[in-house]
Amino acid sequence: MRIINDNYCSWVNDLSPRTNIKTLSTNLNSEWLVIGAGYTGLSAARKLGQLYPNQKIILVDAQLAGEGASSRNSGYLVDTTLNDGFTSNKELESYKKKTDIYELGINTVKKFINDYQVDCDWNECGKYFASSRIEDKKILTNFSETLSKLGFEHNLLSKIEISKRLGTSFYNTALHTKGGILLHPGKLVRAMVDVLPNNVILFENSCLFNWNKIKDIISCEFKNGKINTKKIIFATNGFLKSLGIKSNYNFPITLTASMTRPLTDEEFQSIGQPKEWGVLPVRPMGATIRMTKDRRILIRNTAEVYNPFKMSKLDLEKRSINQKIGIKKRFPQLPDNIIQSSWSGVVSRTRNSSQIFEKIDHNVFAAGCYNGSGIGVGTLFGEQIAIKASEENTEEIETIEARNKPTWLPPQPFLNLGVKTRLIYERLRARSEI
Ligand SMILES: Cc1cc2nc3c(=O)[nH]c(=O)nc-3n(C[C@H](O)[C@H](O)[C@H](O)COP(=O)(O)OP(=O)(O)OC[C@H]3O[C@@H](n4cnc5c(N)ncnc54)[C@H](O)[C@@H]3O)c2cc1C
Repeated sequence: MRIINDNYCSWVNDLSPRTNIKTLSTNLNSEWLVIGAGYTGLSAARKLGQLYPNQKIILVDAQLAGEGASSRNSGYLVDTTLNDGFTSNKELESYKKKTDIYELGINTVKKFINDYQVDCDWNECGKYFASSRIEDKKILTNFSETLSKLGFEHNLLSKIEISKRLGTSFYNTALHTKGGILLHPGKLVRAMVDVLPNNVILFENSCLFNWNKIKDIISCEFKNGKINTKKIIFATNGFLKSLGIKSNYNFPITLTASMTRPLTDEEFQSIGQPKEWGVLPVRPMGATIRMTKDRRILIRNTAEVYNPFKMSKLDLEKRSINQKIGIKKRFPQLPDNIIQSSWSGVVSRTRNSSQIFEKIDHNVFAAGCYNGSGIGVGTLFGEQIAIKASEENTEEIETIEARNKPTWLPPQPFLNLGVKTRLIYERLRARSEI
């Protein structure tokens, strides 16, 4: 088992290459071990480093720290996700619990970037939910009622207003939420790598193959070494299932995205020189599309059951063609060959879109499954799972634990069959929106 990422992601390639990379090559003992160095694991390790300045904390990743999904996402730090209306107060109450967690997530990232003076292209420009289908206006009107009930500032927009703001006449209906931030995901996670406390030892390109717990010691096997630890936090998100963590509650989904080169002055003028914006789809399988502050267009329009450890170049190219079509539909005036990079990333899903935040055994903890909100919620859950593992409590933990818990999933092959059928159905419903 080896996680092999493609190395085409523009967000990663914007950063300077890392140096000083240590790989595990010996046997070690530690008080604390964190597996996975994305937003969740880095935040857990940072918090543990602050809480226990005199203890050794080991953080391990199978690839380069932060260069999994945490660098490969679309960069929306969300305050709300689309839920199109509720039939009961109970449902509204559970949606509110979800947005309470999003709010804590935004505050946690905000505090991180203020404390460490991080430049990650932070833009509090809100976000759009948009569709080309006129009938989707009903979904957005229902959503608008929900947002009003919960006090989220937002606007429903006319087609003319949408095309003025976005530079495309593709969309017929849209809702803009004032909350929500756009950022550079790679810069944010790289900052988390750079500020790890001195007592955190980071090992990269070191994949955990196997782990077991015998009495009070958790024994972890890597290719060239073993770590025996007293406490462990699993922060491997899309790979929780492959390590046997909450296997009946989560499953991996692979997403692919593409980014264009920066538009030239002429091209930018041809689409009306819009300010930076981000659109999320109204239908789950529609495209996420973003205009970055440096005039690049990002598009993500796939989500599928795929081997999470590697996507072949050929398969990635096939998905890239789909993304080229998505850009062309929205911006027919732009040239055909402006995509600069395409990449894949793995996330984790649960049946009811609830996150995992749990003590799964004595001294064994796990956090993950954020369903498109991992930038904020992953950073929050990482810090808070470290506090929970220290047997402490916080208001944040109480808010997190008030959420609905993930529900049970059927075993294979029924699981894959069910997920694939659902994705095909959603893809059909959103076929005009890719
Ligand atoms: C294309 C795409 C678009 C997205 N858009 C958004 C968005 O706009 N907004 C948003 O909030 N979220 C978005 N997401 C989701 C977001 O990226 C994730 O929720 C987030 O990265 C989760 O962070 P994490 O630290 O929990 O997991 P990851 O970033 O996946 O980190 C887990 C780490 O664990 C490591 N690992 C796995 N197995 C092992 C092992 N056996 N041994 C050692 N290490 C291991 C991996 O190498 C990886 O680095 C998107 C994701 C993708 C792929």
